[in-house]
Amino acid sequence: MAERVIPLVDQRIPALRALVPARPVPATGLLGDLLGRPLRDLRISVTDRCNFRCSYCMPKEVFDKDYPYLPHSALLSFEEITRLARQFVAHGVRKIRLTGGEPLLRKNIEVLIEQLAALRTADGQPVELALTTNGSLLQRKAPALKAAGLQRVTVSLDGLDDAVFRRMNDVDFPVAEVLAGIEAAQAAGLGPIKVNMVVKRGTNEHEILPMARHFRGTGVVLRFIEYMDVGATNGWRMDEVMPSAEVIETIRSELPLVPLEPSAPGETAERWGYADGSGEVGVISSVTQAFCGDCNRARLSTEGRLYLCLFATQGHDLRELLRGGSSDEDIASAIGQIWQLRGDRYSQLRGELPADTAAGARRVEMSYIGG
Ligand code: SAM
Repeated sequence: MAERVIPLVDQRIPALRALVPARPVPATGLLGDLLGRPLRDLRISVTDRCNFRCSYCMPKEVFDKDYPYLPHSALLSFEEITRLARQFVAHGVRKIRLTGGEPLLRKNIEVLIEQLAALRTADGQPVELALTTNGSLLQRKAPALKAAGLQRVTVSLDGLDDAVFRRMNDVDFPVAEVLAGIEAAQAAGLGPIKVNMVVKRGTNEHEILPMARHFRGTGVVLRFIEYMDVGATNGWRMDEVMPSAEVIETIRSELPLVPLEPSAPGETAERWGYADGSGEVGVISSVTQAFCGDCNRARLSTEGRLYLCLFATQGHDLRELLRGGSSDEDIASAIGQIWQLRGDRYSQLRGELPADTAAGARRVEMSYIGG
């Protein structure tokens, strides 16, 4: 077996300047990038810290007590996040997802949720507001999140076997508490809840069927994510990726499935329904079946950099505009121009890229940019 190498890299690659174009790019809601893709979905990372140390995301060996997390002054304030989000919504964003790091670690996150819930699209609709969490604090926080205006949560859970899960989160966190968080979120009305399971071959593929059995018939949508080559610290190897096609075959061997239509354009998951109508599962196949063609997602990092792809190496510094006194119109124009010039399609190009890029030598970490 090949020896695991965890490169220690400084991910604070200098940001690209976000330039205000001489000709304004007005927020018409009709923005398209170089491949004609609209801007519809904004993921906002509210912290680069997490209380889990999943080896595929924030391995302990790298994210230890000496790791240079962002200082508080570098983080966007809630007002700054909301001001930027307003410009994104004016440009066509309809869905905002809070993520991280672990978003529930950000103090008073409910206040940010309240501010974002007040945003309206050009046709007067509230934005869809969701949050991705490891579930560890959900039991305690679910009612307050709902009251603040959060609509849905996605909970990450990589298995039901307590020993496997404790090993994967690498902080000895028990499954039972995450399940209690999911129940609390359901009771608070934060559904339909999605549960994300990253499948790593050799680590948790035997948890696929127990997870499917557990969530079938509960209204929770279980989604299986291919282990991705994000960041530069997880020692990713293709032989640890379990292709979604195999995941579907595994479930089908016991529980018949039928393909379902996508529920929205640009949706990351391919949907499958249980043939007896007892619910659905999804697979997210960013490694074996790139879905860049209709990617309508932008990502805002904790310190206000705009990333156009999960696998990007550099982001555009919007914080400099915010803190440098730019007007809302200027910020909207800068965002508009960045999107108009976007041509990223990393997952489609993965196999053709130079080795150092494909190996993730400079890519930002998922915990920093948000999942
Ligand atoms: N802390 C939150 C959580 O655990 O859901 C939000 C952030 S986490 C980075 C978002 C999602 O990314 C989680 O579902 C996590 O499992 C997934 N993720 C992280 N690294 C991944 C990788 N290398 N491949 C696939 N999914 C990954």
